[in-house]
Amino acid sequence: MVEALDILAIAAHPDDVELAAGGTLALCVRQGLRVGALDLTRGELGTRGTPELRAKETAAATAVLGLSVRENLGLPDGNITAAGLGGVIEVLRKWRPRIIMTHPAVCRHPDHRATHTLVRDACYFAGLKKMNPGADVVPWRPKHLLYFAEVKHFEPTFILDVTSTWAQRMQALRCYGSQVHDPDYKKASEEPETYISNAGFSEWIEARARTYGHLIGCTYGEAFQYDGTLGTANLDKFLNMEAPFQ
Ligand SMILES: [Zn+2]
Repeated sequence: MVEALDILAIAAHPDDVELAAGGTLALCVRQGLRVGALDLTRGELGTRGTPELRAKETAAATAVLGLSVRENLGLPDGNITAAGLGGVIEVLRKWRPRIIMTHPAVCRHPDHRATHTLVRDACYFAGLKKMNPGADVVPWRPKHLLYFAEVKHFEPTFILDVTSTWAQRMQALRCYGSQVHDPDYKKASEEPETYISNAGFSEWIEARARTYGHLIGCTYGEAFQYDGTLGTANLDKFLNMEAPFQ
């Protein structure tokens, strides 16, 4: 049996987890947690780059973040459906992550919305003993499901201070030269600009993290929604927590 993960981030395309939650993943690794990522497709429908180039970029970004494992499920880009359920369930049972991060319910990209539904369903069904039984299958249901922020309006449940890993997070994102703003790639390529390849998008990534950071009194923040309602038995956390504004 492979060593279990503490956290698994699951996304539709190879650069999605870096775009949304790279600072969080790097921070959790730095704090000693075992963190992994699962990309559902190779991004073969992408306007820029090729699946081969994107795989190289992903390997480089994975090393920068210090992830323990990263796999690609090879589902068809642009056609993420319930047919992928068995594959995601298998990965969940293999790595037994306690926390899952994935796309929120409201997303710009249809593949991201489909991934949200697929991952939620897989987290549930992976815990059912009679679902896709195999010779050495042990059912597993992750304890917590988190949704990272994307480009649509997003009301966070909480914001994580990622100031200490911001530089590392941006270094990981820059590994995706074919996808995000990279003047060198642009000079050597005839491919058209995309929603995320222009300089303005990278500036917005920074501005968004600054905005989330401002809300909690730090420089850079990454926002999440929690699937469920967080409870507490006392107010100790608030008594010991600095207020963002004095
Ligand atoms: Zn994507």
